[in-house]
Amino acid sequence: MSVKAVKNLFDALFSLTDLRELFREVKPLYEMDEEQRSRAASCLERAKRCLAELEEFLKDPKPVEEAFNMYILDDIEVRAREELFINIDPIQPAGRLTAEAMKALIAYGDGYSTCDWCLRPFRLDKVKRPPLAEFHAELAEFLGMDEVRLMPGARRAFQAVTRTLLEKGDVALISTLAHYTEVLAVEEAGGIVKEVPLSEDNVLRGEMVAEKIEEVKRETGRLPKLVVVDHFDYMYGNEHDVKGVAKVAHEYGIPVLCNGAYSIGVMPVNGKELGVDFLAGSGHKSFASPAPSGILATTEEWVDKVFRTSKMVCDVTGRIFEVKEVELLGCTLMGAVAVAMMASFPQVKERVKRWDEELEKVNYFVKEFLKVEGSKVLSQLPRKHTLTYVDTSGSFDKVARNHKRRGYFLIDELTKRRITGIFPGATRRWKLNTYGLTWRQIKHLAWAFKDIAGKYGLKVGE
Ligand SMILES: *Cc1c(COP(=O)(O)O)cnc(C)c1O
Repeated sequence: MSVKAVKNLFDALFSLTDLRELFREVKPLYEMDEEQRSRAASCLERAKRCLAELEEFLKDPKPVEEAFNMYILDDIEVRAREELFINIDPIQPAGRLTAEAMKALIAYGDGYSTCDWCLRPFRLDKVKRPPLAEFHAELAEFLGMDEVRLMPGARRAFQAVTRTLLEKGDVALISTLAHYTEVLAVEEAGGIVKEVPLSEDNVLRGEMVAEKIEEVKRETGRLPKLVVVDHFDYMYGNEHDVKGVAKVAHEYGIPVLCNGAYSIGVMPVNGKELGVDFLAGSGHKSFASPAPSGILATTEEWVDKVFRTSKMVCDVTGRIFEVKEVELLGCTLMGAVAVAMMASFPQVKERVKRWDEELEKVNYFVKEFLKVEGSKVLSQLPRKHTLTYVDTSGSFDKVARNHKRRGYFLIDELTKRRITGIFPGATRRWKLNTYGLTWRQIKHLAWAFKDIAGKYGLKVGE
């Protein structure tokens, strides 16, 4: 009956939300007419009924078996994936909100909510209440950089850098495993990407970047204007040699942007130690924050360039907006998204210290997963990240070939075991991410793959 429990949970929240709206309607005197009184009473009734049923459920909780369906409005369904399933989606786990971030969404959801106390100089990173200014300063320290700004995603951080550094036709180096948003950020700025091939073990190292720089110099007579290096890539979740790459690029005087979309917010990352000029992070991927959110951090040397302020003088009025930062179009993240990021920050600071345990868990999972004969892990081993690329052509795909549901059998079987997030239909090469699962959940996950294998007659080792 626990689908009912999850429904009750949402319904209790929604009942109180309806009551909240009534408060907004009857303020400031809270005088209510008959209809409003009865609406208030029915909100409370609904909430109480839900709570009573939840209390019953909690006395003897049972796992979910039925399907969940509930709607906010017409065909907008309630998303209860995180309450109902173990979610091993490659991109979602570390963007799951903390309770504090969820509360921030409730309390700061109204439009320009962070502008209540926006006083001179009228910029998001200067707002003292809620303490966004302090958050910016602490975030810079946390990342070992001098200044940060909140951005709507890592991609917008790349874009601020490419627009600052590249002119039409300038070359930016990326790797052959670069995320598509790096390509688009260079393209949008008028630049050209040149890809640096990786080593056989799918890692980017300094010497390969040096080679490519030389090649670009030979072919174009000019040096690249930017090197972009992924800290951990989106495909294998492999760790790349950011330090080595930065060292080489700097020998040529080329600035380095480190893409920390998969690292900032889950593990300790220090930009100065890495030796990079720019660090980009993703709030919704790795910082327990809502979308769209991200971080751009830089060093003293680049602050005035990447966060340059407006110089434009309006011709009729003579107005100038000299405190507004051009790449941010004044302010970027506003309202609930910014406050939710800030609300997650205390937990994020703590959780990065527990990264080693996340690695223990993923390595335990991988060890169990590989017991299914024919399964392979394509990512580097032991795992240094919870994002893992696997190849089950020799195991689950064999089952798929003879199954009436083809590749979909795997997601069907996982769903029955309350696991979700793998690409539906994929049984050859696919990705999963175990970030944030408890030991109990990790063990359930490992059991599930072995159980499914056993059911279909695949050999499972001891
Ligand atoms: C997810 C991802 C991005 C995009 O991040 P956004 O915050 O959504 O812009 C960029 N690079 C890598 C390597 C990623 O994995």
